[in-house]
Amino acid sequence: MTQVKLHRARAFVDCMMITASAAGYRFDPWNWWRHTDDLWRWGVRLRELWLEGLADEAMREALRQQRIAALLAHARSRSGFYREHYRDVAHDCTDLASHPAVTRAQLMRHFDQWVTDPALRLHELQAFIADPARVAEPYLGRYTVWTSSGTTGVPGVYVQDPDAMAVYAALLSARFEFDPNAGDPWRMMGGASRVALIAATGGHFAGVVWWERMCRIHPAVAANARVFSIMQPLAQLVAQLNDWQPVFLASYPTMLGLLAQEQRAARLRIRPRSLWSGGEGLTGADRSAIGEAFGCDVIEDYGASECMNIAFGCRHGGLHLNDTWVVLEPVDEHLRPVPPGQPSATVLLTNLANQVQPVIRYDLGDSIALGTAPCPCGARHPTLRVEGRRDDVLELQAAGRSRVRLLPLAIETVLEEEAGIARFQLTQTAPDALSLRIEARSERQRAAAFRRAAKALGRYFEQQGAPAVRLSCEAGAPQANPVSGKLRRVRALSAAQRLA
Ligand SMILES: [Zn+2]
Repeated sequence: MTQVKLHRARAFVDCMMITASAAGYRFDPWNWWRHTDDLWRWGVRLRELWLEGLADEAMREALRQQRIAALLAHARSRSGFYREHYRDVAHDCTDLASHPAVTRAQLMRHFDQWVTDPALRLHELQAFIADPARVAEPYLGRYTVWTSSGTTGVPGVYVQDPDAMAVYAALLSARFEFDPNAGDPWRMMGGASRVALIAATGGHFAGVVWWERMCRIHPAVAANARVFSIMQPLAQLVAQLNDWQPVFLASYPTMLGLLAQEQRAARLRIRPRSLWSGGEGLTGADRSAIGEAFGCDVIEDYGASECMNIAFGCRHGGLHLNDTWVVLEPVDEHLRPVPPGQPSATVLLTNLANQVQPVIRYDLGDSIALGTAPCPCGARHPTLRVEGRRDDVLELQAAGRSRVRLLPLAIETVLEEEAGIARFQLTQTAPDALSLRIEARSERQRAAAFRRAAKALGRYFEQQGAPAVRLSCEAGAPQANPVSGKLRRVRALSAAQRLA
């Protein structure tokens, strides 16, 4: 299996290298050299991954330790934030666990000292991000930039250097399992076959930036790739997909779940050969329901804005850590290690690929459990399970007796992007009623935020065919789960409440 995949990955890269470097010139005459440079880096990293695959466990561990030591040394010498943060740790210490953890709020507060290139300034990056027309545009001619709002309520700004992008791309090429019946992946990506991404659009979000960047580099892919917005009414999206007929479809598991229901009801009529699921947790039940509806495999991917490719899914439903480029430490609420098999309170992430904005023992907030048994697929990379990394799909009363189903990510995008609210909790209290909690410093601020939310959500619900949904403002701050500390931002009626 590994041999087949490697062969395919290499064939894929060869084709991409030749076509994209030739076509890249036509596509973007000013930047042809950069595309060639990107492809060169990608080829180097892919070759490295291939060699890593041949190495034994001791060699892989040595490589990991070498990368950890290099990243720590780089952060200490080039990042003012880390120099200060590590002031109590011995200078030559390369033991990762001896270094204090960091949070997003801490890093964002010290952004200009956190990054290792003094040319990067937060206020300038924020101006760049505020312009949706500049999605995937190389920042300062070399960096890839994306943003995320996320559940912690502190918007993050992420800068990736060209080498990190090459590592992510190589990991994707080497580890993504194409459907064996789908034929040559090159034909699938670059030939007549169409690909589709359904995502939150209109902003510099990681998935969209990645996709647009690939389209800029590979014009042959761009011609057959289309991005669809999760914000539009489901019926409209279904019609567009029926028209586009993608063979490869990428989206969030909640969206794939909605589409699976549409496919079963024969309103959606597509025959994808591969589905990619990411951005939220995929349960075993989701995987089989979605796979059955479309008659193909669902490949999962675990990534975050802080690190694009943390783990890759295999055909057996396992998630495998990209352990030579990523360190994940599952920990309890006091940041003490949690043994394999047990769900953690949070997880500390170290991204060994990106040097310009070092992410070292970063509190990601996800609950994960490391696997205890080898995966039947035979991959040596450790397995993990991601617990509860998603909010609920809302089913709201629409005109007549019908219901509309709305994606949590779409609702969160409306509240974050249109109403400018980062920390909130929307709870369904009846089929046609929702209550909203907003974190605010004063009642006046809460009332103003609620007015913006009511306006933005009202408009969105109307577009979706549910204009009569009532929204009320609830006093108090959003409530995180007392055990896990996680904040669920969109909560649907429970099955029991629906029956009552
Ligand atoms: Zn596996």
